[in-house]
Amino acid sequence: MRAPIIAGNWKMFKTVSEAKAFIEEIKGKVEIEGVECVICAPFTHLHALVDAVQGTRIKIGAQNMHCEDCGAYTGEISGVMLKDIGIDYVIVGHSERRAYFAESDDIVNKKVHAAFRNQLIPIVCVGEKLGEREAGDTKKVIKVQIEAAFQGISAEQAEQVVVAYEPIWAIGTGKASTPQDANEVIAYIRDLLKGLYGDHVAGAVRIQYGGSVKPENVAEYMRQSDIDGALVGAASLHPASYIQLVEGA
Ligand code: PGA
Repeated sequence: MRAPIIAGNWKMFKTVSEAKAFIEEIKGKVEIEGVECVICAPFTHLHALVDAVQGTRIKIGAQNMHCEDCGAYTGEISGVMLKDIGIDYVIVGHSERRAYFAESDDIVNKKVHAAFRNQLIPIVCVGEKLGEREAGDTKKVIKVQIEAAFQGISAEQAEQVVVAYEPIWAIGTGKASTPQDANEVIAYIRDLLKGLYGDHVAGAVRIQYGGSVKPENVAEYMRQSDIDGALVGAASLHPASYIQLVEGA
């Protein structure tokens, strides 16, 4: 049985005090047996959030990190630093980072390795652009991204990875993929993992859908055979809406 995981991706929103107030609002309301809740916040908020969720089952994640553990990389944050303050998850290869910060498949793979070196669970994002979908290339694109991300990752590590399938045309646009279409691609990702690692790992890896998930549509995604949760941007910013997302899972 794969425990569903609802992860909020706050992107570049909220101040530290707003973030702490958010946790106060959701505390005690999202601790539903069998559902894992993660909030992925800006770096400056992480320390305070780790403190704020003490004694709850809410986990805190980063939205990015550097692929090296230390070095002369002005302005960067490493996995060592994240682990040191009690972070559990890190988003790797979000499409916004791939698009605006030139994150290649190779860098994504290096970050997955860096996450495991530091006992962090990577939430690895993959997804096709609108043009690629329209050209019928979705599976081709996903295959390249998945195979690259898992390069050199052992079976023991692979089964802990969370994959987020986020079609780029569905992120922040209000145009969500249909649950059936999302499930089809996610089942394909599971097939790819089966080819790489066999049945056990493919059956254990949690694969989320992301892209315009809201309280109103989350349950429909969760009903699909292969979808194990959601990576949610806009709808994770409001406490009431985040609580409803977790309840919907
Ligand atoms: P959205 O973002 O829910 O606002 O579409 C999803 C994401 O970027 O992870």
